Amino acid sequence: MQRIEHIYINGEFVIPNGQEWFDLHNPSTEEVIGQVRLGDALDAQRAIAAAKAAFPAWALTSREERIEALRRMHRAVAAKEEELLEAILVEYGAPMARGRSMATYAADVIAQAINVLEAFEFEEQVGMARVILTPLGVTGLITPWNSNAGFICNKLATALAAGCTAVIKPSEMSALQTQVVVRALHEAGLPPGVFNIVNGRGNVVGEEIARHPDVAKISFTGSSAIGQHLVKTGADTMKRVTLELGGKSPTVVLDDADFQAVMPLVLQAGFLNSGQACIAGTRILVPRSRLAEFERIAKEGVSQIQSGDPRNADTDIGPMVSQKQWERVQRYIRIGQEEGARLLSGGEGRPEGLHAGWFVKPTIFTEANNRMRIAREEIFGPVLTIIPYEDDADAISIANDTDYGLSALVLGKSPERCMNLALQIDSGRVLINTLAHEPRAPFGGFKQSGLGREMGRWGMSAYLEPKTLVTYDPLK
Ligand code: NAD
Repeated sequence: MQRIEHIYINGEFVIPNGQEWFDLHNPSTEEVIGQVRLGDALDAQRAIAAAKAAFPAWALTSREERIEALRRMHRAVAAKEEELLEAILVEYGAPMARGRSMATYAADVIAQAINVLEAFEFEEQVGMARVILTPLGVTGLITPWNSNAGFICNKLATALAAGCTAVIKPSEMSALQTQVVVRALHEAGLPPGVFNIVNGRGNVVGEEIARHPDVAKISFTGSSAIGQHLVKTGADTMKRVTLELGGKSPTVVLDDADFQAVMPLVLQAGFLNSGQACIAGTRILVPRSRLAEFERIAKEGVSQIQSGDPRNADTDIGPMVSQKQWERVQRYIRIGQEEGARLLSGGEGRPEGLHAGWFVKPTIFTEANNRMRIAREEIFGPVLTIIPYEDDADAISIANDTDYGLSALVLGKSPERCMNLALQIDSGRVLINTLAHEPRAPFGGFKQSGLGREMGRWGMSAYLEPKTLVTYDPLK
């Protein structure tokens, strides 16, 4: 049983003022595997003060100095890959292959920030003005539990690359991962105060960061409800905000698609990260004329998908992160049936043979319509909804009839037709016949899926403020 007592402020591991201990669970067994001591508002204030004091010097560092610091961070985080993998498996329950990619992503994303910084244009001449992009100041970085280490590293590396300093409020449910990352970052030997990490509750530490006048910007990944709250709270001090929120992403299967060939992509997109992915393709739009054929192939496909022990190499879907999340998913499975959608596979309860752990059966509803709650609300578990459509125009209209707009997948034989459809879907990202991720491109959502973008030069710009300099030279 691990007890994580320290938070990280001004280059040191310190005991927080906060007194509360929070239980950490292994979602595969439901056992308590550790405890983390949570910081409070005073701890957040101390961290913000340290980041504020460190900002002027860090903002003046050269591109080369920042690249050197980020390289040290990259090496230190990469060296902890195995430890991070173990923390992800035990505390989050990601299946082995997914856990491995999450563990490597934490270092990869720092390397990507280095690439962005190497090529970034901080200055531009516009007519007689020199426009300089200047770092915003202290940033508050708030992460969720579904990829905590990766989000910490991405947000922090980008903030530091831009010349900002940071206070990180990680998910309180991911303290083992946070602990591995913070030890690595400490070893990287950055100047004290440049980054600070305060474990704590969202409504305590997160709230203090959101309201504090010395925080210039919030970068938040999490639910749309908290995202909206942060915009309101931040408005009092006119904080800049970047929000990466929820989704209800459509997978549009065109009537010329080879269903057998595309089914692995449909299921992977839907069950990504055990269904606990903001970009999961949870609304599957299928031509009504070929619905029965699609259902048959989907049923076959899902029967091959294993939900169970994340350490088993054959497992595709691990447990839900918490009992609360498990109950939420069960509730939605009941709601879908009450609404009149037909269960094609899965359903309530644990998968056969599993008596403990927050495991869910991979579940697919069919004959649903887009007005149902299972088609409109983010479930955040392995529950997919097939919605039949009449023609391409109907598919586009259903795809866009949502409060969200984070990601979409279009599957079909004709590249022109797929592209034509993709251009009409209101979404921050549309993938065509692939699930490939391009880290140099902007990532973020339309509508209630977010505000602003992360990744690439767009992500970096979000930590910078343009300053216009116009000079009068009396000698000219
Ligand atoms: P959440 O919104 O409850 O919590 C996210 C983080 O915000 C946590 O660290 C939490 O402690 C903190 N928080 C909670 N209340 C706060 C407050 N009042 N002020 C400041 N911070 C507060 O979300 P979650 O349950 O941890 O994560 C699941 C949600 O995140 C899903 O809705 C999912 O779609 C979304 N998500 C989005 C992306 C994306 O990139 N778009 C990625 C992952 C998760």
